[in-house]
Amino acid sequence: MTHTALADIASCLSGYDPNALPVAQAQEFISRMVPRVQAVESLAIRSALGRVLARDVVSPIDVPAHDNSAMDGFALRSADMAAEGDTLLMVAGTGLAGAQFEGDVPAGHCVRIMTGAVMPAGLDTVVPQEFTKLVDGQVLLPAGVVRAGDNRRLAGEDLKRGEPALRAGRVLRPADLGLLASLGQAEVPVRRRLRVAFFSTGDELRSIGEPLDAGCVYDSNRYTIWAMLQRLGVEAIDMGVVRDDPAALETAFREAAACADAVITSGGVSVGEADHTKAVMKTLGEVLFWKIAMRPGRPMAIGRIGEPGREAVLFGLPGNPVAVMVTFYAFVREALLAMSGATAGPLPLIRAASATPIRKKAGRTEYQRGIVERGTDGQWSVRITGSQGSGVLRSMSEANGLIVLGHEQGNVAAGELVDVLPFEGLI
Ligand code: AMP
Ligand code: MG
Repeated sequence: MTHTALADIASCLSGYDPNALPVAQAQEFISRMVPRVQAVESLAIRSALGRVLARDVVSPIDVPAHDNSAMDGFALRSADMAAEGDTLLMVAGTGLAGAQFEGDVPAGHCVRIMTGAVMPAGLDTVVPQEFTKLVDGQVLLPAGVVRAGDNRRLAGEDLKRGEPALRAGRVLRPADLGLLASLGQAEVPVRRRLRVAFFSTGDELRSIGEPLDAGCVYDSNRYTIWAMLQRLGVEAIDMGVVRDDPAALETAFREAAACADAVITSGGVSVGEADHTKAVMKTLGEVLFWKIAMRPGRPMAIGRIGEPGREAVLFGLPGNPVAVMVTFYAFVREALLAMSGATAGPLPLIRAASATPIRKKAGRTEYQRGIVERGTDGQWSVRITGSQGSGVLRSMSEANGLIVLGHEQGNVAAGELVDVLPFEGLI
């Protein structure tokens, strides 16, 4: 596959400055550079939950295939309903779901009918059973309880034959599996699952199970990254902790790029970083080092590494545990969805009143960890979780959403409405 050079993408963005890149511009840059997985596989519909539909699914049938009753009651001809006063109808027979009434229905007659039963020929309206009375074996229907056409489901009202039932690019959800089943479709074409390799860099990192030497921390980023990738439904390839050694780093990057569509690393991309991560990244492909106008998560590397024609997209995330998660949600998540072939829209935000004033500098996007709640008045409010340090992972764990303060926004007054990205369904 041929790529547009990263420099050409940058030149399309007005005022592109890698040392003060607004979040929106970084997002646009990434969306322009990532390739889409092309390979398609066919899966049984139950195995396709969360996968990306590769082609439009066109309905081969009308669903429902026939007009049918939406209620238990009596099917009748609306022309038989008295304009005023009660209507009395004889019962010609019964129609059940799966055992329809076959005969003719003479004028002045109705058919006892169950939900889902095919409408008998010529009948167009269903009166629910609870609106009727049986009087001497006849059905008494009071005036005004139904109108012509009520409680009848029309053939094709759910899906019309020949029309797309689902569009390519859709991430399949529970309702979609049901919809596919309603078409009688056992299998569905989906894009191959995206492969994402990841590793942590830093000599101070220890893996679980190792003794925690003086000055060291346990590697937590590999666990948050792994978990965020699980939620996206991609194949996550854990390559461990790589020590700060040029040869070890080079081997890890090469192996990752050879086996994956995307490579995510954490650590080693800050300004003035003493370690070798940045230097090695540079030698393996086209890699840019950004300072993004955001907090947390300022430094980030982005690029393509690996053998020409078989490159992987590189996301070099900062090392701080909160910055890793914030940059993942701000940039990586959407990029991986696009690479998976998904046409997902932006994440929904809640507008909530800030419980306290928040200090905010205009000219950068800030992501504060918040607890959002719905008051008894139905209004959302949000308060910040304790310390907002980018190394304080507890702030993410306690939060149920990210307060997103936009690039232009200044200080927030108490009671002012702010955007909150809820974690529910995302995390
Ligand atoms: P760096 O971006 O490499 O300068 O790292 C910034 C901070 O994040 C340092 O305090 C690191 O110790 C910490 N850090 C880096 N990688 C990890 C990791 N995988 N798990 C936990 N903390 C990390
Ligand atoms: Mg480091």
